[in-house]
Amino acid sequence: MDKVKIILDYLKEHFPRHTHKYNPYDVLVSCVLSQRARDEVTEKVSAELLKIAPTPEKLAKLDVKEIARTIKPIGFYRQKAKRLKEIGRMLTDKKVPDSLDELIKLPGVGRKTANVVLCYGFNRDAIPVDTHVNQVSKRIGLVDKNASVYDVEKKLEELFPKEYWRLINLGFVSFGKAICKPRGPLCKKCPFNDFCKFYKENYS
Ligand code: SF4
Repeated sequence: MDKVKIILDYLKEHFPRHTHKYNPYDVLVSCVLSQRARDEVTEKVSAELLKIAPTPEKLAKLDVKEIARTIKPIGFYRQKAKRLKEIGRMLTDKKVPDSLDELIKLPGVGRKTANVVLCYGFNRDAIPVDTHVNQVSKRIGLVDKNASVYDVEKKLEELFPKEYWRLINLGFVSFGKAICKPRGPLCKKCPFNDFCKFYKENYS
């Protein structure tokens, strides 16, 4: 059977398609904070910052030092504080852009962050490629192990129907945390081990 179909059927069964639309500004701030940070810290720090800066205008008015103090538990907080202040300034009296090309003009916003904002802030079909999506795709063998993050995004877009792109992100992230873990993937009980490249290389 076609492996893309098996993967899609599994994701459809285990991870309901995301439909909730969040505030794009909240998603943007959280995603910038989340870079190279753990989920629990990101959640806590995002809530603290959004409490004192619920809009770009309020964020722009904060002193960089105050932003840094608020987000201090997170890695790279000084750099992120500067970027966030600039994002606040650039978005003052404007809406968060709903296009990838505009989003990536903001400091600290690359394709992954931009696609997260499009997916979760605007309910658009996009595939943000984070470490889990990247690793799962490569281990299974959907993409070459040397593929760039951009190539992974494009290959996944080619393999999966557009209406399921958002599910690919949500599903692979959850699957990567629960089964295909970065360290110690649970290959023996994985539903994809019949055709997974990593499994064949390591267990056959
Ligand atoms: S078999 Fe192992 S490496 Fe392959 S997808 Fe499953 S958990 Fe990941």
